[in-house]
Amino acid sequence: MKILIVGGGIAGSALALALHRAGLTGEVAEARPDTGDTGGAFLTLAPNGVNALRALGLGDVPAAAGGFELSGLDFRNARGRRIGELPGEHDQQRYGARGVVLRRSRLRAALVDRARAAGVAYTFDARLERLDEHTGGVRAVFADGRVVDADIVIGADGVWSTVRRLTWPDAPTPAYTGIVDCGGWTAMSLPDTARQQMVFGRRAFFGYAAHDGLVYWFTNVPHRREPRRGELDRLDQARWMADIRALHDGDPAPVPAILAAAESSLGAWPVYDLRSLDAWHTSRVCLVGDAAHAASPSSGQGASLAVEDAAVLAGCLRDRAEPVVAFDDFVTRRRDRAEAIVRMGRRIGDRKITSAAGNLFRDLMLPTFLKMGAKAGQEQYAYRVDAQR
Ligand SMILES: Cc1cc2nc3c(=O)[nH]c(=O)nc-3n(C[C@H](O)[C@H](O)[C@H](O)COP(=O)(O)OP(=O)(O)OC[C@H]3O[C@@H](n4cnc5c(N)ncnc54)[C@H](O)[C@@H]3O)c2cc1C
Repeated sequence: MKILIVGGGIAGSALALALHRAGLTGEVAEARPDTGDTGGAFLTLAPNGVNALRALGLGDVPAAAGGFELSGLDFRNARGRRIGELPGEHDQQRYGARGVVLRRSRLRAALVDRARAAGVAYTFDARLERLDEHTGGVRAVFADGRVVDADIVIGADGVWSTVRRLTWPDAPTPAYTGIVDCGGWTAMSLPDTARQQMVFGRRAFFGYAAHDGLVYWFTNVPHRREPRRGELDRLDQARWMADIRALHDGDPAPVPAILAAAESSLGAWPVYDLRSLDAWHTSRVCLVGDAAHAASPSSGQGASLAVEDAAVLAGCLRDRAEPVVAFDDFVTRRRDRAEAIVRMGRRIGDRKITSAAGNLFRDLMLPTFLKMGAKAGQEQYAYRVDAQR
């Protein structure tokens, strides 16, 4: 069976490796060039994501990608008062893994390297433009005119999936969440943090973790108007950083100091999510990762879900002779979990958007929200892909 995977990000590369492990072969077509640095800042892989990598024999990938472990979250309000925590010190005993902070481009590069070493063929600079599904297979046409005929096509091409748009032109489009994310890492001598530090600042939410002389930071900039596509791609960095510093002016230490030390942010990403699609597959085309169910970064789960999808779909394709039956199985096993996490990510994101009255209520209610969050977190973290295949 010839399997074409469109998109060589986290879901696409993990799927190529999972198929290889399942005795199947997928080839990857990726729109970006073959460069090490593919942009983005850093992300947290949750314990379930680390376990999903292990299930694929990729347990060494987080370390190979330079990741470091964290155990839980501390929350403070704009006056610096500690208002809650999500302890993670027992994650290792409970879930067999801790969360890991990784630079996005290193994670992707580590997955691509492993896939290529396993013999997976990648074509870079390959932007899908047309998809024709017929009774005998699927024809994919790329921007440079290249044509690939495959038995099945997997759309692993992210939140703005072309595979989704071409296959289901009327499918809902991603919804803007009212937040622009930005962040990066900067050299600064802060003691290493065992937990990720979260601050509900006066005007915006800020998070950071210090490790080995670097501070990894992000801020969620409330931005009511949806930016036009590409509008934030070419920001004047000096102005943007000045705006961010002003946004966090007066917030508790060390937030202003981190921003003073940071020369630039690595980007500004309007945050979207994709709640629920009528269909994730046809007879020969199936979506995985953000293409099927994009969760906002506030969920801390998008990358982990992408790896889980890859492991589960590869198992379904291995075990079922008919792709459409495998796709059905896959969706049955994955949809409820993924969509619940998308909804949760939206709720958490909404709580980060500040207002004076809302802040008071949030400070009062946070311990209750965190208790609910801890319960949901346990279900998310305890998920094992091995039990799904
Ligand atoms: C600012 C930000 C912070 C985040 N932080 C976290 C976090 O802390 N923890 C977490 O778990 N998740 C986080 N996420 C979410 C996470 O990044 C995604 O869930 C994850 O990357 C999904 O992987 P994917 O492979 O499905 O999509 P992507 O990683 O988006 O990969 C899609 C790939 O498809 C390629 N592609 C697109 N169109 C085409 C085309 N037409 N033809 C060929 N190739 C194409 C793209 O170039 C890309 O390489 C964050 C997201 C953002 C935006």
